[in-house]
Amino acid sequence: MSCAVAQLLHGSENKLYTQRSICANVNLDPLSPFNKLAIPPLPESVVVYDSTLRDGEQMPGVRFDLEQKVAIARKLDEVGVHQIEAGFPAVSGSERDSVRAIAGLGLDAEILCLARTLEQDIDAAVDCDVDMVLLFVATSDIHLKYKLKMSRDQVLERAVKSTEYAAAHGLRVSMSTEDTTRSDLQFVKAIYHACHEAGAERVGVTDTLGCASPEAISHVVGEIRSVLDVPLSAHLHNDFGLATVNSIAALSAGAEAIATTVGGIGERAGNVSLEQLVLVLKNLYGKDIGISTEGLTELGKLVFEAARVPLPANQPWIGSNAFSHESGIHVAAVLNCPLTYECVSPESVGNRRRLVLGKHSGTSIVRNRLSEREVDATQDQICEIVREIKRRGEQHGRVSDDEFWTIVKAVLSGSGGTQNCGEG
Ligand code: MN
Repeated sequence: MSCAVAQLLHGSENKLYTQRSICANVNLDPLSPFNKLAIPPLPESVVVYDSTLRDGEQMPGVRFDLEQKVAIARKLDEVGVHQIEAGFPAVSGSERDSVRAIAGLGLDAEILCLARTLEQDIDAAVDCDVDMVLLFVATSDIHLKYKLKMSRDQVLERAVKSTEYAAAHGLRVSMSTEDTTRSDLQFVKAIYHACHEAGAERVGVTDTLGCASPEAISHVVGEIRSVLDVPLSAHLHNDFGLATVNSIAALSAGAEAIATTVGGIGERAGNVSLEQLVLVLKNLYGKDIGISTEGLTELGKLVFEAARVPLPANQPWIGSNAFSHESGIHVAAVLNCPLTYECVSPESVGNRRRLVLGKHSGTSIVRNRLSEREVDATQDQICEIVREIKRRGEQHGRVSDDEFWTIVKAVLSGSGGTQNCGEG
């Protein structure tokens, strides 16, 4: 792999560094070569059905207006998401309007919506003219007893009837069992089997509470796969921080469709993050699922802005710190060769590198910034600039670009000190 660095290095104000890299043209694998030792068995094609507009919007306190939903749907389509879960039409009139609007955009992505196993919900889905309805019914004993107040037989009957009803109204059907990971799998299998017979083209496992380990997900998906030859989806949650890992477990065990949300937003700790799933498959396992990564950071910004939620700085790949370096040791190495501390290039996910000034800064970044503006300084002056950056960094963390140039001016116009820089 070439380490073409000439245009890789961006400053804090998006200025291009022109430093030549000593690792250019060197054949380096940016990722662990051990990844290739055990690639999980993945399905031929992976379908992403993104639920940013449904489960994502169910993040407490979040609501998207019609304009925002349309913009997000267009961007999801642009990056190549295969299916978009546009909403839950039974929730409200405006929710129905937005699902209908998205279904009418003529996007390449198929448009899905959520519905309970109730005729009024299915009528609303029909009214929205979606490609597929995601029917769901709870199957765990705790949900049957304390939520639905129904017996297993009643739940099974309703699931089948609503599948037939939706199919009779021209909808393609996916039937998900809510809280699958706390359900009796014999009952779950019976529902999938009956609903498939009734016309469902896909069935769905859910880890509604995010309470299952990767091994449990493998077991559940494998069990269903062993008795049923129907496309299987997985809707997973991140309560233990395992959503992405569990999505890989589900795919390896035979699921082919995964529900994601941008940045993993959603109920409680959220869902499988779209960008994490895509990057894990592509970069760790070499599986391109047809979703382009270059637009992911822009998509993330769009969604978090619309949600009025700060995009965490340390969000994998799309956060502002995903490619930021402050430590003098790291910056010096990255300026020589980004692969020293970056295993994925910022450009490949539409993000950018930030070389941050603070208490951990060293001389490399100072030399680099000065040479960028063709400012000459002696070694002593550079050392004094570094000392002042460290002093200010100790006081208030980050040192801004403006502050940096103020320091430079002060040092260059004054009489520089003669101590060493205090860095190894
Ligand atoms: Mn959910």
